[in-house]
Amino acid sequence: MPELPEVETVCRGLARLMVGATIDHAEVRRPDLRTPFPPGLATAMIGHRVLAVRRRAKYWLWDLDNGMTILGHLGMSGRFDTADHGTGLDRHDHVVVWLDSGVRIVYRDPRRFGMMTLTTTDQWASHPLLAALGPEPLEASFTGTVLHGALKGRSSAIKAVLLDQTVVAGIGNIYASEALFRAGISPTRPAESLGPRVVRRLVETIKATLGEAVMAGGSTLQDHRQVDGELGYFQHTFAVYDRAGKACPGCTCDLAHTGGIQRLVQTGRSTFFCPRKQR
Ligand SMILES: [Zn+2]
Repeated sequence: MPELPEVETVCRGLARLMVGATIDHAEVRRPDLRTPFPPGLATAMIGHRVLAVRRRAKYWLWDLDNGMTILGHLGMSGRFDTADHGTGLDRHDHVVVWLDSGVRIVYRDPRRFGMMTLTTTDQWASHPLLAALGPEPLEASFTGTVLHGALKGRSSAIKAVLLDQTVVAGIGNIYASEALFRAGISPTRPAESLGPRVVRRLVETIKATLGEAVMAGGSTLQDHRQVDGELGYFQHTFAVYDRAGKACPGCTCDLAHTGGIQRLVQTGRSTFFCPRKQR
């Protein structure tokens, strides 16, 4: 499931292709994804130039020169594909956009948990899907003080609170596990029990973990796009995520005794952590 770094990489890849280009034609090929496509979605795009492609939390936005903004989410399996696979489109290709540069951009989403809708560029921030979102973790305004304040009075586990998009935007299951591991914080600790110094360390590791993944995405963008045209997905190396039973990096875990990285389920989602390194 794409989180902030993947969506950021998708946006950077799309920006290179789309910004300055005019949408010659657009086609919406089914009535809905997770939510219905708004009437007039394709019409709103056709004949208009793309001014910006940007990201907020795990949402992507295209600002057009008619004052409209296309807003979307990749859900579980959404992908943008730019490769020319010939003329064929398949049943998972739900939205197709043709640019005046000759590039064709295809939104493919086999599981259809994604969405795409329409808003206006001057009102985007107050769109119901975006209005309540918390701070962007990579922005300077997201500090230890800000997060510490947001954790006050929250007795839920810190891992669950990091997934709350009103606390901090764009972090999902993978990067919450990774950041807590790097900060040495147990995912089960009540959020309000973390002191200011620990929260500052957590904010630093969130920024580092997401920042490195954005960099990794950016560096694969050049060559990766040539291969299959798919934007934003790259081989990650995770320290703990999906590595249950293995030794964590730099750990002296005696696997026979400790069992290595542990998996546990919190609010229905898998958490991976090292019980020796995370307290
Ligand atoms: Zn370990």
